[in-house]
Amino acid sequence: MTLEERLGFIRAAIADAAAEAGRDPAEVTTIVVTKFQPLELIRELAALGVREFGENRHQEAQSKAAELSDLDISWNFIGQLQSKKARQARSYAHAIHSLDRVSVIEALASTDGAIDGYLQLNLTDDPGRGGVAFSQLETMTELVLSTEGIRLRGVMAVAPVGQDARRAFERVRLASNRIQTLAPEATFISTGMSGDFREAILEGATHLRIGSAITGNRPDAG
Ligand SMILES: *Cc1c(COP(=O)(O)O)cnc(C)c1O
Repeated sequence: MTLEERLGFIRAAIADAAAEAGRDPAEVTTIVVTKFQPLELIRELAALGVREFGENRHQEAQSKAAELSDLDISWNFIGQLQSKKARQARSYAHAIHSLDRVSVIEALASTDGAIDGYLQLNLTDDPGRGGVAFSQLETMTELVLSTEGIRLRGVMAVAPVGQDARRAFERVRLASNRIQTLAPEATFISTGMSGDFREAILEGATHLRIGSAITGNRPDAG
């Protein structure tokens, strides 16, 4: 399949899942994850109408955003962010999906406009996996709300390998309801990757982060 065919195929599958969920597909934004992929592929996707792109490594994201500044596209940072680099990420990303630690949130504070932020949830029992523990949801929500320069938009999560994705995303939906009692505007749910976007849509995802199913295999293990 060509890139255009894969994109069309995934768009159709997203529309099917939305229909199955009784949702309007227009409520679901697809972010195409282009980590490890060349600039040419991003240009091709932009020509096919893709507007939202996702990257998970700061240096790569920064240089791609600079090289492609002529395109009318937006960058989402979806990887783990070092607090040292957080401030720089503000300059090219319109959204950070990986707010997971106090230090990163504090480093993103700014009086110079607001960036969209998502609290990344840890769906495992392993605190080493990164992401906010469910017991810390309210505390971290309050912290983001009190940080000038971040507009809290919602939650983000990756379904743990080997777990039922639907059930994992149900927990994300419930966490989203919890944070909305403190932050009524934080209605976005960033879940769903190549292998589990159907389950994500059924559990209310508003933003999908899809890489390989659209781009094909990544040049490097990523
Ligand atoms: C790589 C990545 C994706 C996309 O993964 P695919 O399986 O290629 O769709 C989504 N979210 C995050 C955080 C990623 O690092």
